[in-house]
Amino acid sequence: MWECKQCKKIWYYPLEKCIFCKSEVINQKPKGFIVKGISKVLVSSNGHEKIPYYNLLLEDENGNLHIKKTFKEYNRGDRFEQKACKNKTCVGLSSIGYSVIDATKRAIELIGGINFNPNDKIIIKPNIVLAKNPSTGIITNPSVVEGIIQYLLKEGSNRDNILILEGSLQDVDSKKAIKKSGYYDLCQRYGIKFKDLFSGDFVTREITMNHEKLIVQISKDIMEADLIINVPVVKTHFQTGVSLGIKNMKGIINHPSRKNMHRGKLQEQIAYLNTALPKYITIADGSIGLEGMGPGALGTPANFGLIIAGKDPVAVDRIICELIGLKVPLHITKAAELGLGELDLDKIEIIGEEMEIVKRKFKAADDKISPHPDIELIDGKPCSGCLNSVWSLLYRLKDISAEEISIAFGSQISEDMIGYGKIVAIGDCALNAVKNLGREAESLRGCPPSIEEQEKFLKKWLK
Ligand code: SF4
Repeated sequence: MWECKQCKKIWYYPLEKCIFCKSEVINQKPKGFIVKGISKVLVSSNGHEKIPYYNLLLEDENGNLHIKKTFKEYNRGDRFEQKACKNKTCVGLSSIGYSVIDATKRAIELIGGINFNPNDKIIIKPNIVLAKNPSTGIITNPSVVEGIIQYLLKEGSNRDNILILEGSLQDVDSKKAIKKSGYYDLCQRYGIKFKDLFSGDFVTREITMNHEKLIVQISKDIMEADLIINVPVVKTHFQTGVSLGIKNMKGIINHPSRKNMHRGKLQEQIAYLNTALPKYITIADGSIGLEGMGPGALGTPANFGLIIAGKDPVAVDRIICELIGLKVPLHITKAAELGLGELDLDKIEIIGEEMEIVKRKFKAADDKISPHPDIELIDGKPCSGCLNSVWSLLYRLKDISAEEISIAFGSQISEDMIGYGKIVAIGDCALNAVKNLGREAESLRGCPPSIEEQEKFLKKWLK
């Protein structure tokens, strides 16, 4: 609720100045409510499929009235309160009404705020993998990061100590990505620095994973930060099921480490990588998420309208999976097993919105399908280099008929994945994997081969 400082007029949506006296408008946060009226809804409607539910008429301490949907039963005269949480395993759910920025700040308040010293080096890590507009659901909405910046500055952070750190996919022009996504403008407006993660130094960490060694090069900025705020966008991912907070932190390693990871047990390695990182807070952008064939341009934007925050990375990801109706993937269960957080729904406290109210089923990514009707994919778990280029190319060529071939990509290819038809291996990983199986395949070298090279190579099978 917004109130004019001067004439005390009230609005239920944000505005910059009072439209009557042009004075400053302040955001009033009611401390508590009394239930003044209740209506029980027994007929479902679009967006309100689950019944019965209740619409409460609430009165705040200043006599202002508010309407709130709930599945819980209340009586007139009951108190309706939303307290901030002090418990580490709580997850804050903040619906986006009129403003992503305000919803983000509310999510932070729900989890008890963020503790830091004015001179702490703070890193904000969004997801800006591609040069896309936030309406695509592929990248983190800069308004979420703006809400975080406003919170940090208001709480006394020095803007010179705040850094937005991110590296786009290999072959993606980072400068273009930052401009197109709105981060360049955001940094200009607030005087905040942006750093391309790949322009910085990396430190080597050796992580013991079962009986193997996982060697990764991690951003030095991340390892030296006093506070890390991880800001993923809620997405499906056809290799890891979902791409949320724990997965977003894979973005802080360099390209060779990313490629190595995709050659191994990707999901387990993501979990183990998180054990080597400093602790972080997750503020997940669910303003517009991505469903279907995420995490890139083949996914479909999904209006979700929610900010999800928490200090326990496993609890946040677990709750998001529950909200979007998708199976909890291995990298999240493994992270819990490694002691990174709480997986048990009964032990995670939810603050803010009721889960049932904000649930929104996401379509899962199907890793068995191919974007081209005549070309099958043999998914050897490629890294994003081959993955994105092969998928984008086949999607572009989908209306041109082709001979029936199977494209193998990635290194994890076994005998049972290969049929008897024509196999075409794209990228060094697939080429070696197919060769090790003693199978014949026409191959295109490269790590990854460029889209132009791939298109030229595939031409002979196009009709
Ligand atoms: S060949 Fe392809 S899948 Fe293998 S590491 Fe290179 S880009 Fe990744």
